[in-house]
Amino acid sequence: MSGPQGRRWDVVVVGAGFAGSLVAKRLGDQGWRVLVLEAGHGASSSDGGHADAVEAYRTALLKVPNSPYRTSTAAPSPAMGDVGEYFVQNGPLPYGSGYLRANGGTGLPWTGLALRMHPEDFRAGDFGQGRNWPLGYDDLEPYYRAAEREIGVAGDAEEQGAEIGLPFPEGYQFPMRPIPQSYLDQVMTKSLDGGTIRDPGADDPVPLRVVTTPHARNGLPNPSYDDGAGYRPAPGPGQPDRGTLCQGYASCVPICPSQAKYTPLKTQARWGSSVTLVTRAVVTRVRIGADGRAAGVDYRSYGDDTAGAVTHSVDADLVVLAAHAIENAKLLLVSEAANSSDQVGRNLMDHPVLLTWGLMPQQVGAYRGPGSTSGLEGFRFGAARARRAPFRVEIGNWGWTWSLGPPEQRVAELLGTGGSDGHGILGTELRRALGDQIGREFAFQFELEQEADPANRVTIDSRHRDALGTPRPIIHYDLSDYVKRGIAAAKAVSDQLFDLLGAQDHTRFEQGPGWPSYFEFEGSSYAYRAAGHGAGTHIMGDSPRTSVVDEWQRCWDHPYLYAVGCGSMPTVATSNPSLTMAALALRSSEEMHRDLLDRRRITSARHPAPAAS
Ligand SMILES: Cc1cc2nc3c(=O)[nH]c(=O)nc-3n(C[C@H](O)[C@H](O)[C@H](O)COP(=O)(O)OP(=O)(O)OC[C@H]3O[C@@H](n4cnc5c(N)ncnc54)[C@H](O)[C@@H]3O)c2cc1C
Ligand code: SF4
Repeated sequence: MSGPQGRRWDVVVVGAGFAGSLVAKRLGDQGWRVLVLEAGHGASSSDGGHADAVEAYRTALLKVPNSPYRTSTAAPSPAMGDVGEYFVQNGPLPYGSGYLRANGGTGLPWTGLALRMHPEDFRAGDFGQGRNWPLGYDDLEPYYRAAEREIGVAGDAEEQGAEIGLPFPEGYQFPMRPIPQSYLDQVMTKSLDGGTIRDPGADDPVPLRVVTTPHARNGLPNPSYDDGAGYRPAPGPGQPDRGTLCQGYASCVPICPSQAKYTPLKTQARWGSSVTLVTRAVVTRVRIGADGRAAGVDYRSYGDDTAGAVTHSVDADLVVLAAHAIENAKLLLVSEAANSSDQVGRNLMDHPVLLTWGLMPQQVGAYRGPGSTSGLEGFRFGAARARRAPFRVEIGNWGWTWSLGPPEQRVAELLGTGGSDGHGILGTELRRALGDQIGREFAFQFELEQEADPANRVTIDSRHRDALGTPRPIIHYDLSDYVKRGIAAAKAVSDQLFDLLGAQDHTRFEQGPGWPSYFEFEGSSYAYRAAGHGAGTHIMGDSPRTSVVDEWQRCWDHPYLYAVGCGSMPTVATSNPSLTMAALALRSSEEMHRDLLDRRRITSARHPAPAAS
């Protein structure tokens, strides 16, 4: 065989990130011949490659989520906060959620918080905001468990049930014991637990309780898991037969040196022999046959840059787009596919994050462990979500990094103007000032649900292309008053939290390059950061008139074409989205398997060809 294009594949998966790696594993395990085409390099997929990536991060001058990973001009990746290098920003407010185009995708630099959605999140439309899902929590529950096994989740199911109201099957336990709370969490628990707070959106005071967060990183394996069978964490590439325990390096974003954090490379390490990965293969078009069914894809392979890129075609019975919410939408738009509803690219969502930051009265051991180990969950559900966007509160262990930058920046400020007379300070005085400040820094990260709004969208235009000649995403993005009211409510909650903690509030948003997302609302100033949780661009629904994919993430318009990932989510909810995305991918894999069996039959009662295409 000369290359992947020389044969017909059962399945071609576009993108070897989070969703694509899971789908390929499931279909490969069932014996289907799966070709995975990945746009980026595979540089960090081996043990040596991982070590190189750690070193690249250590020596990087600018330490941002994508800095450890080798990227290419042929498959550019938008940085977090990209205001025009890759994205073409075309809206009232900037869309700052980046992603990574390299083998493993954005699941390499992600933080690794792995929460389930609340049952109410599937019914946002009932509250008059956003859409309802065509499936509910109960439909997804078994796949949440499958995803928690596959990616290895550490958490406390009993606490998640009691404090958040998540329904679990009787006696269910997570594969691993919870990641220990940080010292900051423990200090907060003492001051906040048992108290209440007024949320301007809610009728009654909201009870406070610091709740541990489930993580996709290795805690102690739970001997009671799976009816006493226990759990064996998966190793990272090149590691011996078991994973290492999270050791608190605090560099989870963008890379975990010990590979305790889940990345899709761990799933790839367990792919069967019927799965073939080709990296540096940028898919440029989905091919739709004359009968309206998916027929294959075109892609361009490249060496180290775009010079000499070659175009290929591959044929497959089933095509799965798993290229990330924004790239999936781009591919469908370029291919003029799946868009009879005119919803492709629309309903772009993220979690706008309100950050508030300050100094605790005492040392709290900042900058240790994962980015957040606990949160306040009481603002995620209830009648208030009809009036303002609901939110989750992460207690931030990494001080002021996300709001103002890493501690080096405070050193620079103290060197410049840190003295009481406004002059710089040095030596003992500098050491004392830093010692006093850095260990007391903390932040709250309020992640708000953003409702699906068709006006927030990704489009393409032949005038804006990348180095390989493929279109760059043009983004129109804004926040509704519903979200802005949620942000205002979150700030009011934050003010009360600071009072309860006796903490000094240093939160200040200034219009300018530091806060391109600055806005004013009802006389106050706010700004948000992007979460990296892009969603909604090939939205799921129960009708081909109003949605792009059905409850299986299959495009309504084209049998045997699937678009998987957060792009399918009708609401982005209040939890970090990837566990839900993983559960959806595992659920959809079962329908893909049924579709493939069906396609083997000569006449198909299951998917008659569309009348015209
Ligand atoms: C800094 C950061 C922190 C995050 N933390 C969390 C968290 O704590 N919890 C959580 O739930 N979520 C988190 N997320 C979000 C999470 O990373 C994403 O939801 C998830 O990775 C999306 O998975 P995906 O498979 O859809 O896309 P990706 O993981 O981005 O994978 C897509 C893959 O497709 C490839 N590709 C793209 N275009 C093409 C093409 N044309 N041809 C071939 N291949 C292509 C890409 O190279 C990539 O490998 C975070 C994101 C960021 C940026
Ligand atoms: S805290 Fe450290 S060991 Fe744990 S996941 Fe993050 S980087 Fe890895």
